[in-house]
Amino acid sequence: MKHIAKKRFGQNFLTDQAIIASLIDAINPQPEEIIVEIGPGLGALTKPLLKIIKHLHVVEIDRDIVSWMQKEYANTAVTIHNVDALKFDFAKLVNNKSGENLRVVGNLPYNISTPILFHLLDNLAHITDMHFMLQKEVVERMVALPSTPAYGRLSVMLQYHLAMEYLIPVPPEAFEPAPKVESAFVGCLPYAAKPYVALDYKLFAKIVLAAFGQRRKTIRNTLKDFLSNEDFAKLNLNSQLRAENLSVKNFVDICNHIHSKL
Ligand code: SAH
Repeated sequence: MKHIAKKRFGQNFLTDQAIIASLIDAINPQPEEIIVEIGPGLGALTKPLLKIIKHLHVVEIDRDIVSWMQKEYANTAVTIHNVDALKFDFAKLVNNKSGENLRVVGNLPYNISTPILFHLLDNLAHITDMHFMLQKEVVERMVALPSTPAYGRLSVMLQYHLAMEYLIPVPPEAFEPAPKVESAFVGCLPYAAKPYVALDYKLFAKIVLAAFGQRRKTIRNTLKDFLSNEDFAKLNLNSQLRAENLSVKNFVDICNHIHSKL
């Protein structure tokens, strides 16, 4: 179809067939699985997925694309959800009683990638795994280790829940129109048992936010509402460090120390 890519919906359509094949390979879809694709667009991933799996859910915001899809996929097993993925209730696609789980894939609109990731964290109980195409910088932040430049709030909040793997770098030329940035494909696997468990998740999120709010400052400064000198000593934590030096475990320890005093 003739479709003019809409900037406001972050439309960069994948056209490189070799890359598309490598993404499908990495996803490794199985016929019976329940898969939801966010932002199917003109079908770069949708069509190869449909060759393998029996049924696919897609979540697409653009009405023009949706009306094209309704004709294009009229005789196929696609359920089209014409809504904003940020507002979509992913959990409703699975039958919780029978313990069904969902796989999530998508070449995500880059302008809303962080909010979508946080939205999906709220639905993780029902998700087996997720595979996303994102701006390379975002993927680097997702997988970054402490004391490296890309390490930040996104790294800590995602790594708390997910094992992540940087899978495939993708150059701008693989898309039409070509985005201004490099991209990468990332795999995210929710932990069956988290390595470190925060006893109060909201408190954990608050501490991470406060610490990275002013990432150049020491945690003595940014966490002064949470931790006294005595607390730092008990935690065996150097208060001159900055947020970027703390591991997920450090943040969980801080959270659980405060929680134990409440
Ligand atoms: N998967 C396709 C299209 C990627 S472009 C491909 O790889 O070629 C991103 C797609 O996400 C577009 O189809 C765009 O319309 C859609 N999109 C943008 N914002 C969205 C949102 N908030 N919810 C759902 N889909 C969205």
